Amino acid sequence: MSVVSQNTVAIDFEPTENQRMISDMVRDFGKREIKPHMMEWDESQEFPIQLFRKMGELGLMGILVPHEYGGSGFGYLEYITAIIEISKIDGSIGLSMAAHNSLCTNHILQFANEEQKQKYLPKLASGEWIGAWGLTEPNTGSDAGNMKTVARRDGDYYVLNGAKNFITHGKSGNVAVVIVRTGEVGDSHGMTAFIIEKGTAGFSAGKKENKLGMRASETAELVFHDCRIHKSQMIGREGEGFVQSLKVLDGGRISIAALGVGIAVGAYESALKYSKERHQFNQPISSFQGISFKLAEMATKIEAAKLLTFRAGDLKNKGQSVTKEGAMAKLYSSEVAVEVANEGVQIFGGYGYTKDFPAEKYYRDAKLCTIGEGTSEIQKLVISRAILK
Ligand SMILES: Cc1cc2nc3c(=O)[nH]c(=O)nc-3n(C[C@H](O)[C@H](O)[C@H](O)COP(=O)(O)OP(=O)(O)OC[C@H]3O[C@@H](n4cnc5c(N)ncnc54)[C@H](O)[C@@H]3O)c2cc1C
Repeated sequence: MSVVSQNTVAIDFEPTENQRMISDMVRDFGKREIKPHMMEWDESQEFPIQLFRKMGELGLMGILVPHEYGGSGFGYLEYITAIIEISKIDGSIGLSMAAHNSLCTNHILQFANEEQKQKYLPKLASGEWIGAWGLTEPNTGSDAGNMKTVARRDGDYYVLNGAKNFITHGKSGNVAVVIVRTGEVGDSHGMTAFIIEKGTAGFSAGKKENKLGMRASETAELVFHDCRIHKSQMIGREGEGFVQSLKVLDGGRISIAALGVGIAVGAYESALKYSKERHQFNQPISSFQGISFKLAEMATKIEAAKLLTFRAGDLKNKGQSVTKEGAMAKLYSSEVAVEVANEGVQIFGGYGYTKDFPAEKYYRDAKLCTIGEGTSEIQKLVISRAILK
């Protein structure tokens, strides 16, 4: 129950009915469809595309998309809940779900025209099509505004040349939103977003990355070689692409914060269980203060990360700016995911270093959270700019 006086704000920490329903549904789905296969996918780096079609049937591929475009019509609290539940089981599935929903689909939802929304959102929301989003290039990651991939105007067409790398679903994606240079280097209004379908002449997938973690989430290069795109595929107006991207990333960072929370919870819960089962010196290892204090710190950090993440989601739902709050949530949750996963391996001891237990996978997967959608250093740059202005 919340108590409200003149100077206090009511805060309800209870999950909503929808959040509970989503948690139960996703947990059940994960147990049946992900858990039995995830180590196989991890070993072989297989992107399980059929799984995403099934996730589409459950409404998980268009969580933020309104009903009129075939989506689930939920807000950020439900979205965060779904990502946490999936990532508790397998972070790589959480990452792919986040990239599809927050980046490609959400870019179209936020900035595309009605015709483009009608054409692409139902396919993306149903999981029939997988979405990719390309901002990063081989030489420009954190400094994305310095991108070199160009689109040269030629009548009603643009001709694209260059490459994007580290793109989630770079090979399997049916459609990609890409941000390319249409103006001068150094001009934040010199970049434009286009929707490009797989099979377009001059557009192909390049190298697929061999990764430390998140191995079932496909990461690959997008290559453009005299790729002609009709101007009707432009999102918004020429020159708006980079500013659109920053807004897309504001929301995307909340989903990476949720990904970090999910991985941390998974690592913590498995370590907690193991600590009660594993005996040394004739007692469960949880009875040693050295282990129980680790668990106490892990649990406390996870709670703090959850609060930051849901607070950012709540602000986003209310249409308020989340540039600072999303960056804070992403920074903290990502670092917590790495710390908790590290302690998880430690609690499992030698077994934590083997593939017989999930601890090592959480440890490998967690690290992506401090890198993707802006490194921890870049989050600190965003936060410090906001608090020093
Ligand atoms: C698995 C995976 C999936 C990805 N998916 C996508 C995707 O779908 N779409 C997409 O566009 N991109 C994607 N990325 C790219 C990702 O967003 C970039 O890797 C990230 O932004 C960092 O860029 P970089 O790798 O070029 O590192 P760099 O920018 O080269 O950074 C190297 C180091 O320098 C630090 N650094 C850089 N600038 C500063 C600064 N000003 N101050 C302090 N430190 C600084 C960084 O923090 C980092 O520690 C993905 C990456 C991975 C690994």
